[in-house]
Formats: sequence, structure tokens, C-alpha cells
Amino acid sequence: MIGIDTLVAAAETDAVAWDESGLPTEVIDAAARAGVLGLDRAPACKGLGLSAAELGSVAERLGAVCTSLRSLLTVQGMVNAALDRWGSAEQREQWLPVLTTGELLAGFAATEAGAGTELSCVATTFDPAGSDYRVSGRKLWVTYGQVADVLLVLGQTSGGLTTALVETSSPGVTVEPVHGQLGMRGTRVAHIELDNVSIPATHVIAPPGFGLSHVTGTALDHGRYTIAWGCAGMARACLADAVAHAATRVQGTAVLSEQDAVRSMIGRGWVEVAGARALCERAAQERDAREHTALFTTVAAKYAAARAAVTLSQQGVQILGATGCAGDSRVGRFFRDAKVMQIIEGATEVAELQIGEYVLAGGVR
Ligand SMILES: Cc1cc2nc3c(=O)[nH]c(=O)nc-3n(C[C@H](O)[C@H](O)[C@H](O)COP(=O)(O)OP(=O)(O)OC[C@H]3O[C@@H](n4cnc5c(N)ncnc54)[C@H](O)[C@@H]3O)c2cc1C
Repeated sequence: MIGIDTLVAAAETDAVAWDESGLPTEVIDAAARAGVLGLDRAPACKGLGLSAAELGSVAERLGAVCTSLRSLLTVQGMVNAALDRWGSAEQREQWLPVLTTGELLAGFAATEAGAGTELSCVATTFDPAGSDYRVSGRKLWVTYGQVADVLLVLGQTSGGLTTALVETSSPGVTVEPVHGQLGMRGTRVAHIELDNVSIPATHVIAPPGFGLSHVTGTALDHGRYTIAWGCAGMARACLADAVAHAATRVQGTAVLSEQDAVRSMIGRGWVEVAGARALCERAAQERDAREHTALFTTVAAKYAAARAAVTLSQQGVQILGATGCAGDSRVGRFFRDAKVMQIIEGATEVAELQIGEYVLAGGVR
């Protein structure tokens, strides 16, 4: 995939600048032209029709060079997957082609001040107004919210938790850019105020009451899958940087790779990367085979890969020393990005509980 090769090459030289000033619009456009925004959607809706394994491979390659670029794939993929699974034929026809080609950019707007891990507590409301709805609420931490044209918003109706598309050009939408967060600094994050925003009832995705369990559930599952592969890429890149540095850096009379502590750190790291990647591959196989276990394996893969990314980036900074702390250090950037991956799309502790419950219920043999 030539377009992906070009993106990877650009990220290898420019990711540090993107981290400081945000992923440039021309890079988003290049990613769209390369098909990154609709990799696993069907050609009928202008996607590339890739398998889960092929999608994972692209997420891994982008994740190994730039978390913000990989996050673009993740967010657009989440909204597309939810729309494809739960949208009506008319909604799919209207929205999927323009989202898979990047004509429109999507944001996923679930989190609020009082609803992070526990999304059932969202306070955003969709109030009926004739044939329309009025949307009011405040959404936090919307990845690519500064540039998104349309948001998949989770809120409440009298029928229960509901999702709907909200166009950011609508009166009543205020986008507040967020800067300086720990990681994913290039992702042009925004907090978004929704003040009595009018949307047609045709923008509601799936029946009221299905918003969290079905629509958001599909989006988060898709997000976890590409984050898992992105983290596997990050972890492998950190290991590669640590190995390259340890093999050449001389202190006193010895290269670092001759130090037992460094050798064992690299050995432990390799095992962790290989284990996480094996779970990502297993998730890919189960998703492609449409096995019911895929949902669980995806949670486990994201958990393991995020942990591997945290461990390997931390080891990478340790082995590179001051070089790893420099502003242009890849392991340093991934050290900040990796921690975020243990919080978003299901915090580590929540994933552990889910995995434990599933295993105890006999789900894994
Ligand atoms: C850079 C960035 C980008 C983001 N992008 C988006 C986005 O595009 N769209 C969006 O909707 N949101 C986004 N988020 C928000 C993200 O999804 C939330 O931060 C996440 O869901 C956790 O919510 P919280 O931060 O409110 O933490 P809380 O829910 O307050 O949890 C804090 C910590 O408490 C622990 N904890 C919480 N609940 C439990 C539990 N039940 N059992 C055990 N431990 C628990 C965990 O350690 C957790 O990390 C983003 C966040 C960041 C930092």
C-alpha cells in the first residue's frame, strides 16, 4: 500500500512536529487519500474492504511511528463501524461514503465531566422538538474534535441512552481546543459544548435505548482493536530503539548491551511484546472468522498491548538515558502516549475485571 508507505515515511521525519502543533490538515488529507479512514469498510461504501488482520497490520505500522496518526484511523473507524452496524440503509448511504473517503471527519463524543468509565451517567439530553431533537450537553476530550465535521454523540432520551450524529457547523456547537495533554498531543483534541443544537430525528442512530449497549459498544470494540495493534507497534518500536542504542552506546569500556541488567530488560521486553502481539493476532483471527469470542479477545489484546507499550516505552527511556528524555526522542513520545492507552477505551482495571469474570464464567478454555 503505497499511500501507507508514504505516510509512514512522513511520520518518521515529522511526528515530533505533529506532536507539538497537531496533525496538519494536509496529512489528514493524505491519510484519507491512502484509504486510512475507511480501511475495513466495504468497497460499496467506498472503503478498501480490508480484513481485520489487514486493518490491524496498518494500525500497527502507523502506531509504530505516530500515535496521533494512528488515532485518526481509530476514531474515524469507530464511528464508521457503529454507523455500518446500526445505521439504517438511508443513514449508511448518506454518511458512510463521505466518512470513508474523508470528505467529512468524524469525532466520537461520549465522555463528560460526570461520565468517563461509567458512560451510562451521561447528562447530555436529546429533547424532542416537533420532528427534530434539541441536543444539550458538554462533551470532553473529543479526539480530532477541533476538525471533526460530525460527532457521534451519546446522550439521554425518554427512551434511554441514545446516539445521534451532530454536525459541528450547527448553531449552538462550540469547539474548545485542548492543548498540552500528556499524550496523543497531535490529535487536535477538543471539549465541545452543545447548547440546544437542533438535529433532525433522522440523525438518531438505532432506536433510543440502544445508544450505549449497541452503538457505543460497537464503536468502542472497534476502537479497542485498532488501539491494541497501535500499541503493539509502539511497543515494538521502543524495543527496536532500545536494542539499537544498547548495541552502540559505550560507557567506560563496555557497550550497554554487555550489561546484564540491560540484557535482561531487553529479554523481558521482547517476551512482553511477543505475548501482546499474539493476542492481537488472535483477536484478528476471531474477528475475521466472526467468532463470538472476538469481543473478549479484543479487550484482552488491548489490555496486554497497552501494558506492553507502557513497559517498553519506560524501558526504552531508561536504556536511552538522557537521549530518551530529549524532545525528539521516539521512546519519550511513546512514554507519554502509552499511558493514555491504559485509560481510554476501557481503563486497565475495568479490563482486568472483565477478563477475570469471563474466565471464571468458563469463557476461555
Ligand atoms: C487524550 C485523550 C483522548 C480522548 N479521546 C476521547 C474521545 O475521542 N471521545 C470520548 O468520548 N472520550 C475520549 N477520551 C476520554 C476517555 O475515554 C476517558 O478519559 C476514559 O473513559 C476514562 O474516563 P475518566 O478520565 O473520566 O476517568 P474515570 O472514569 O474517572 O476513571 C479514573 C480511573 O479510575 C479507575 N476506575 C474507574 N472506574 C473503575 C471501575 N469501575 N473499576 C476499577 N477502576 C476504575 C481507573 O484506573 C481509571 O483510569 C479521551 C481521553 C484522553 C486523555
